[in-house]
Amino acid sequence: MMVPELPLVLILFILGSAIGSFLNVVIYRVPKKMSIVRPGSHCFSCKKKIRFSDNIPILGYFLLKGKCRSCADPFPSRYAFVELITGILTVVVYLIFGLNESFIVYLFLTYLLIAITFVDIDHLIIPNGFVLIGLSILAVGLFLGWIPIEWGDALSGSFVFAGFLFTIGLIGQFILKKESIGFGDVKLGLVLGGFLGTEYSILALYLSFALSAIMIFIMMGGKLIQKDAKIPFGPYLAAGTLISIFTITPYGGNYILNWYYTTMF
Ligand SMILES: [Zn+2]
Repeated sequence: MMVPELPLVLILFILGSAIGSFLNVVIYRVPKKMSIVRPGSHCFSCKKKIRFSDNIPILGYFLLKGKCRSCADPFPSRYAFVELITGILTVVVYLIFGLNESFIVYLFLTYLLIAITFVDIDHLIIPNGFVLIGLSILAVGLFLGWIPIEWGDALSGSFVFAGFLFTIGLIGQFILKKESIGFGDVKLGLVLGGFLGTEYSILALYLSFALSAIMIFIMMGGKLIQKDAKIPFGPYLAAGTLISIFTITPYGGNYILNWYYTTMF
């Protein structure tokens, strides 16, 4: 069993948080149909360019005490949070898969799901471009054998996952007379079901609905949302899928079990 090497974990965390910094740009600009390359990072209030040395992921936020150096307007703390979570998940994917082909493909999926999560929270949409990128990662991963699932299982997983969401959406529309599960969620289901296969699609769906029910219960209890508020479902689908892949499916979960048995016995 490999013992996680601290320098490598640290390097992966720093690289991951830098990618998180890029994801912040994607999350902000893609729904607005802006270029993700130009212009460089700048303050939203005074439009001043952010210095390279101030743009260090996570640390930059704390060095500037969360404020712009020129106009002292606050930066949203979520930027640092996205960088932190991207860094942590990069390390998690490494610890589960090691440095191999699966690491690459599941890392891409994780980054895509981080972007989808926050775009859906902000705008209640899942852009088609993200779905297409997800389907491309899936197709390439299956073709190269980097995702350990049969084509047939991936295909039927896609249809089970998306079909279930579509059906629930129809029923919701009929009963609640408003959109409960959007078509963006259904399209995302095609991607997630392909990564999971049929059996684990059902598990991930179950987890997603359970997580969303718990969160809605907490948020309503805390009066954080109104009764008729629109709730993004993409984040729960993302969380349900990643938790399933990382802890329970044989593609990810076995690594944890192996680690447990080789270190404990
Ligand atoms: Zn400023």
